[in-house]
Amino acid sequence: MRYPNFIVQPTKNKILQKLERACIHNCYPELFFQQYLLKQNNPFKKATYSLTFDFDFESDIEAFDLLLDKLQQYHIKAGFAVIGKFVKKYPDIHKKAVEQGHEIINHTYTHPNNPHWAANRYFNKLSYQEQKDEIYKAHEVFYNILGIEVVGFRTPHYGNLHTESVYDILKELNYFYSSSTAANEVEGFSAPFWHKGILEIPTGCSMHYPLAIFDSWNMLRKKNPFILDDKKFIQEFEITLKFIQENNLFLTHYFDPYDIIQNNKLDAILHILQDIDTKLYRDLKEVVSE
Ligand SMILES: [Zn+2]
Repeated sequence: MRYPNFIVQPTKNKILQKLERACIHNCYPELFFQQYLLKQNNPFKKATYSLTFDFDFESDIEAFDLLLDKLQQYHIKAGFAVIGKFVKKYPDIHKKAVEQGHEIINHTYTHPNNPHWAANRYFNKLSYQEQKDEIYKAHEVFYNILGIEVVGFRTPHYGNLHTESVYDILKELNYFYSSSTAANEVEGFSAPFWHKGILEIPTGCSMHYPLAIFDSWNMLRKKNPFILDDKKFIQEFEITLKFIQENNLFLTHYFDPYDIIQNNKLDAILHILQDIDTKLYRDLKEVVSE
């Protein structure tokens, strides 16, 4: 993967990587973001956004009902990366999500490395068979309890814990897509691309942080670059979406339900999304072919 028209290019060296990020984020983030995204080939051919949520904690399940109400109020369908063990424990709320037309994304059975029950069990360190069991078991639970054949997957924690072996497992299961990478680390320029027979849908960034993932974990919890001015998170989202809209591009993000609601950001996000076409990942099936 090479960045278009820039002196700075991706490197595996951790120190250089840090310098590179600082350089781009401090010197020319907007230019980088714009030139990077303008290279993409948007399969929908018009401005399109895919909204997704990851349900990793009990607190996300507690936020589920309110999230569904809000999505209904704003007429937006979203993708929900959920774990098999929560679907088993809380079948009704997941059924409600399916009935309301939202998409279920396989996020493994137990979400390895979850600090509450498996802090030291890393997905990328599991054997091929263990990874397969995590994915297959969740798939079965979704089929048996929700009555649906899921077609997509998201690796728990993305990037660092994502492994190439996933694609072989997804292929065996006849899955259509994975959304387990960060846009700046893979090809596609933030749009979906084929990898080992599976459509990979990278999670997107934002105008001023083109090398980060624009999610609630990075932007509201871990480093929170908007700590001094809370309004900037939504301003960043808005300015990013405006560029997508004006240039007929594709973008997708994921948020954690509890965090986004707790930080009072959900309404503003859904309000901004009223101006753009929103699609589910499974809708890509109509517009792409390998
Ligand atoms: Zn997760």
